[in-house]
Amino acid sequence: MRNNAEEIVLNGLGVSHGIAMGPAYLVQIEHPQAPHYALAAGQAEAEKARLDHAVIQAQREILVLKEKSADLPIEAAEEIILLLEAHLAMLSGSRLIRGAQEKILRDNINAESAVAREVDIIAGQFSQLKDPYIAARSEDVRNVGYRLVRILMNVPYLSLNDVPPGGIVLALEITPAETALLDPRRFAGIATVHGGVTGHTAVVARSMGLPAVLGIDQASLESLHHGALAIVDGIGGKLVLNPSLATKRLYEQKLQDLRQDKTALNKLTQMPAVTTDGAEIVLRANLEMPRELENLQASGADGIGLFRTEFMFMNRDTVPSEEEQFEAIVEVVRAMKGAPVTFRTLDIGGDKMIRSLGAHLSAAANPALGLRAIRLSLKEPHLLETQFRAILRAGYFGPVRILLPMVTVATEVEHARRILKKCHAELKKEKASLADTLPPLGTMIEIPAAALSADSLAAVSDFFALGTNDLIQYTVAIDRGNDQVASLFNPLNPAVLRLMEFSIQAGLRAGIPVSICGEMAADPKYTALLVGLGIREMSLGFASLPRIKQRIRVLSLARSEEHARYVLDQYDPDRIIQIVHTFRP
Ligand code: PEP
Ligand code: MG
Repeated sequence: MRNNAEEIVLNGLGVSHGIAMGPAYLVQIEHPQAPHYALAAGQAEAEKARLDHAVIQAQREILVLKEKSADLPIEAAEEIILLLEAHLAMLSGSRLIRGAQEKILRDNINAESAVAREVDIIAGQFSQLKDPYIAARSEDVRNVGYRLVRILMNVPYLSLNDVPPGGIVLALEITPAETALLDPRRFAGIATVHGGVTGHTAVVARSMGLPAVLGIDQASLESLHHGALAIVDGIGGKLVLNPSLATKRLYEQKLQDLRQDKTALNKLTQMPAVTTDGAEIVLRANLEMPRELENLQASGADGIGLFRTEFMFMNRDTVPSEEEQFEAIVEVVRAMKGAPVTFRTLDIGGDKMIRSLGAHLSAAANPALGLRAIRLSLKEPHLLETQFRAILRAGYFGPVRILLPMVTVATEVEHARRILKKCHAELKKEKASLADTLPPLGTMIEIPAAALSADSLAAVSDFFALGTNDLIQYTVAIDRGNDQVASLFNPLNPAVLRLMEFSIQAGLRAGIPVSICGEMAADPKYTALLVGLGIREMSLGFASLPRIKQRIRVLSLARSEEHARYVLDQYDPDRIIQIVHTFRP
């Protein structure tokens, strides 16, 4: 670790508007690399004692974890405790420990290296069996090995929850399940090595209004001194470590400007999102977790345009029951006090993996193209039926809409609608309290096949929601969460724009509402283009909502339509970027 105060500026992707300054903590998600060296003569016994000491400390750590796990829901606790007990068994007299001790004494090498080598041998032998159960055990051996190496190297273990309030979280990656557990009020900002602009971490960071920079260089992070001052510049896409006095002053000024900007934006909350020539745009919110509801009211959102139901399935080992889902859903419906809530059915797979459904999904070589979202729901209709029943019951307490993710063809919507009607009829028979009419059933347009069949989809859907995050990913074949190709993830690719135009027009011709709920809706650079393309409803993270409203209020519909026509006449992506980025209303 480096302790000097030399300023380091790391460039990344600014994915969440805002600036944060605070002490930085590298959350230990990456495993430290074991060093290798030969021992000086006569040192082997002392080195073995060092290993024995680390083993005792590892056992202590695991016992503490066992104690903490008791607070988890019972099923999760049982599972974790079994796992921790297996790890404890590996730390007492096992082949791993005996092998490492022997290596120190026989080969005269350091303890970290002895552990790492023994782990490789054992895990290598396991992997030859090609059995998924054994493969999982080899992961356990590796995890125990990582723990020992970390203790031997004196690297502190920091989990997300150990970062002190106001701190900046630096991590290799934050998975969707980890973000679901993360309490945004505790952190000032985040910076990670992996992740793209519309990847899950970015979406969540934006929805929480947490400044974030992704795709930063890992090597520089490793030299971080814990607690060193860091600045996350989510606007400029920079992480500054150990800022100089001048840099610090510059950012303090920027923070001050942002605060003023925020005060001005807050004044817009009660004002309508209307263009200078009178076109009204409905602004709704995207929600990931019910806890975001607290801030939603203040944002001026007209209901929820996309509620991602995945959170209910995360960080647990079993699928939630109808009752559990109903409880979570009805809380949202009630909180919205009559404003509509659009629940999207389970959208699992790709970047959103879920342990409770792992058996179905994790074996796929290419999960983004695998059994996911509506395909999974239709293959295992009990999943869809449980969600539909919970949403239908919640619909008694306020207006709800249902949105189907990853649709490719109209028959999927027809199939889902049949199931919805069946659930409705069954609930009626059971004398459940229900709304008078069935909720509108909408289709996500987020796969090129859906965009190209938008006319047939419009005939069977009550509304469209354009999911540009996936539409871009699947059109230009760029993984939305991969930092290595993030610069090629271009919402303004002419093919993407044509697919959008085609589907918007198909929806409008059929007279159904067409909204956009992808991240494009949250970037004011694209607002004129979207309005010009015919979008009259947008759904976005509530933190971005005032800024988009501010933009709409200075646009004219006529100029926006002209702008959209001009953009769609272009074929050169760079030219389109230049036109869109320099557009002045
Ligand atoms: C999208 O793909 O644009 C979308 C809104 O859905 P998600 O980001 O949840 O995949
Ligand atoms: Mg999507």
